[in-house]
Amino acid sequence: MKKITLSVIPGDGVGKEIMPHALRVLDAVAEVHGGLTFEKVEYPWSCEYYLEHGEMMPEDGLVQLTESDAVFLGAVGNPQLVPDHVSLWGLLIAIRRGFQQSLNIRHAKQIRGIDPPIKHANQFDLLVVRENSEGEYSEVGGRIHQGDDEVVVQNAIFTKKATKRAIDYAFQLAATRGKRVTSATKSNGIVFSMPFWDNVFQEVGKQYPDIEQQSVHIDALTAFLVTKPAEFDVIVASNLFGDILTDVSAAIMGSIGIGPAANLNVEGTYPSMFEPVHGSAPDIVGKGMANPIGQIWTGKMMLDHFGEEELGKTLLDIVEDVTEAGIKTPDIGGRATTGEVADAIIERVKSLT
Ligand code: ATP
Ligand code: MG
Repeated sequence: MKKITLSVIPGDGVGKEIMPHALRVLDAVAEVHGGLTFEKVEYPWSCEYYLEHGEMMPEDGLVQLTESDAVFLGAVGNPQLVPDHVSLWGLLIAIRRGFQQSLNIRHAKQIRGIDPPIKHANQFDLLVVRENSEGEYSEVGGRIHQGDDEVVVQNAIFTKKATKRAIDYAFQLAATRGKRVTSATKSNGIVFSMPFWDNVFQEVGKQYPDIEQQSVHIDALTAFLVTKPAEFDVIVASNLFGDILTDVSAAIMGSIGIGPAANLNVEGTYPSMFEPVHGSAPDIVGKGMANPIGQIWTGKMMLDHFGEEELGKTLLDIVEDVTEAGIKTPDIGGRATTGEVADAIIERVKSLT
């Protein structure tokens, strides 16, 4: 029996509403597999927890999570209770940094039964690999002088290790998929970091002669992601560029509520964290209409991560059967509740046995 231990953090808002349903789906999947179980420990860390304890998680929070194989997270943030910078830094970013989750991976794919905002003749199915530990989001710089003489310096730090890690991971992923890697660059405008990024891309690319490789400037690439997403397989990008591209890649699917994501500790020294693209969606909390697909698809990425790709593929196929059958939450044009969508998925999963 293969046991995967999960630290479950439902978090805030719709995260808390969706998580029980996503866990029901995962359990059904494990049951069908026969040789797999999820052992879960749930943590109430959230903005409500903050109000009671003055912190988003206990001081030894990371130590508690270290025991598990992965962290499965819902959403963090309730700006009415706790300012976003406090809740995000106190939990989400604390875990990403503490566990050296240096890559953020998002999958975007045209889903049967969901109309994308722009219809394309060809189906798209792509992954964005975002370097998530340094780059443009480095905290190096400062502000000098005041008033009209004010000068601000914001440095971007690119190390060979982190750049190589992201690019190499993108090639490894492409080797299992469409065999094409696109690197986001801007070496015509950013004269130090981006030519360096391009060099590393070329250097790493030499080890993957069977994989098609191209560099595209970020401005054009963002536009292409909207106009011809089917041309891409794996896209690799720096922290800032990846941030932008991953939001676009979620948007072209039709709802932010369906996008999955993984924060990977590539070395395996700490658990990786799996969380959907969407946030806590305060505007729809309590209505039972939050789309559970983002969290469920995130669970599929987790299955992939633990070597259960076949099962993951089956799960995503079933999700698409359900959307194609019109069992959908309002954000994607349906009238079903969170629970009804999950039930329909579970019913189909169980019928596999
Ligand atoms: P964060 O700062 O955590 O990213 P946000 O407010 O910027 O939060 P979301 O919480 O993701 O972003 O909400 C953005 C919009 O998408 C809202 O209108 C929300 O209702 C909608 N949305 C987000 N998640 C879902 C979901 N699972 N199902 C349906 N709609 C959703
Ligand atoms: Mg936001």
